[in-house]
Amino acid sequence: MSYLVLARKARPQTFDEVVGQRPVVKTLQNSLMRDRVAHAILFSGVRGVGKTTLARIMAKAINCEKGPAENPCNICESCRTITAGSSLDLYEIDGASNRGIQEIRELKEKIRFLPTSSKFRIIIIDEVHMLTTEAFNALLKTLEEPPAHVYFMFATTELHKIPITILSRCQRYELKRVVPVELSRHLQNLAQAEGVQIEQGALDLIVREADGSVRDGLSLLDQVFSFGEKNISMADVVQVLGLVSREVILKLTRALLEHDSVVAFQSLEETFSYGMDLKRLTTDLLGCFRTLILCKIQGCDELLDISQSELTLFQDLAREYSLQTLHMQLTLLMQGVEQMRYSGQPRLALETTFLKVIESHEVTPVVTLLSRLDSLLAGNNTQNNGEMAAAEKGFVSGMVKKNTPVAPEVEGNAAAEPTSKPVLPPAQPVSPAIPPEPSDLGAVEMDEEEVECLEDVNEAPLVQSEECLDKQVPRVEPHQRNVRRDWMDFIAYVRERSVWMAQDLQRADSAREQGEELLLSYGDSANCTLLCKDENKKMITEYVLDFFQKDLSVRFVLPDQSCGETQEGQASPLKERHQLANDPLVLMTAEIFNGQIGDIRVGARFR
Ligand SMILES: [Zn+2]
Repeated sequence: MSYLVLARKARPQTFDEVVGQRPVVKTLQNSLMRDRVAHAILFSGVRGVGKTTLARIMAKAINCEKGPAENPCNICESCRTITAGSSLDLYEIDGASNRGIQEIRELKEKIRFLPTSSKFRIIIIDEVHMLTTEAFNALLKTLEEPPAHVYFMFATTELHKIPITILSRCQRYELKRVVPVELSRHLQNLAQAEGVQIEQGALDLIVREADGSVRDGLSLLDQVFSFGEKNISMADVVQVLGLVSREVILKLTRALLEHDSVVAFQSLEETFSYGMDLKRLTTDLLGCFRTLILCKIQGCDELLDISQSELTLFQDLAREYSLQTLHMQLTLLMQGVEQMRYSGQPRLALETTFLKVIESHEVTPVVTLLSRLDSLLAGNNTQNNGEMAAAEKGFVSGMVKKNTPVAPEVEGNAAAEPTSKPVLPPAQPVSPAIPPEPSDLGAVEMDEEEVECLEDVNEAPLVQSEECLDKQVPRVEPHQRNVRRDWMDFIAYVRERSVWMAQDLQRADSAREQGEELLLSYGDSANCTLLCKDENKKMITEYVLDFFQKDLSVRFVLPDQSCGETQEGQASPLKERHQLANDPLVLMTAEIFNGQIGDIRVGARFR
């Protein structure tokens, strides 16, 4: 006794028996009823969705002696011979093994003659995309003007491989994957017909495995039937088909997400005990992560073909992790699966991948990180700003207070009103957020103790500020102006007469009185190019005379000695900036963030 597999036994013989594909079936039936069947029809779709089945039913319906009708009668001679595969007028060709031009020429030879016993000759070419270009070309003319007694039916899984010239000459039908509900119902009916009771969970597993292909579903069902039991449970299906139970896969998924290497490796071992192959396992695992990701994306859970209970389970799990984490883990797994495929030790490769996934951490979106950083900075700023402001206050206000009482015009008032406006140069950088540069402050000549104090403020404002604040309490001597003490006021005085000159003077690193000279040190000679000119120098000398009541000759101290002499013992800010700009850490940071160095601020440094 020969056993007929389900896929053949259950092959639909009428349109009504076809599983799914309702729109295509309807269109075909309409074309039959209206006698408007195209002479070349192309069915496309994944494996096992009914392409050749539909082609055969069409062939029967076209040739049925009782036609035209919505379905072939399956009784007449023509129908019976076609069903039995003995019809002389139906040529079924496998495109994969008859792909050359010679076969097509022979075919064309055959169709020149009228049909022997039926109304039409029908050519079915399966896997038509396998034909060579020459074979396709040989078909072109025939397809364009097919003989009235010939119908072509093509089937393909790879529509994109068919030349456009062929496509344009065919009526195309795209077959969809059969939806799980429909396939499940179909398989259940078949099982009942075979007298087998099958659990819904077991059926769901088969349907999931079949992935929308009726033939695959039937083959799997066949395999389960061969198990011999009259009552098929989920465990049977898992065992027979070498599947891993859903629970184990879920346990594994959860372990990977929870960074639990023990459970992950145990689950892996468990899947092996089921005799499941690695490829299958990874496919299921990737499927789980895909499901989680789809659960995470709003509105995408409708795309999932899973039962409601499973959906709830996945949704609950997905809620615990960010989309980024799931995405990263899926990516790692996919990379691992790819490596596993080419590895001589696939299991080891998979275990390594698991470790990688487990060791990976939660991914936080950059946006969240940035906002956290912002809030952190804001929080710290209140603290830091306070500290820094205190430090700068020690520095700036010390300077200001020292200077204010001796403003030229408001000398009398200034003593009573230390912060009176005209004294404060408007460009004075007193912003608490940006630590002031020494050069910007136009640091004045100081005695050693004060210089030390100032440096300390710059370097460690938090610790030293208060001490400095105390030391910098102004020592007011209103009647004798002093370059060191009243430099800022001098700049303000100059500003009222020449704004640019005041600005350039303010850029000096230091100004000090030495004998009969006023020494102005500049780190960058570009900052005093104009000032160096004789007429300007003369002007400054006059201002100095007016303001300080002293006849001092102005001398510029420059690093390149272009119109003065090099300042000794002090690193120039320009040099410092150059060093900072070329600092390996800075360069690396710029590279990492793909940024550029826009502004260099030399300010308070923390130890
Ligand atoms: Zn018939």
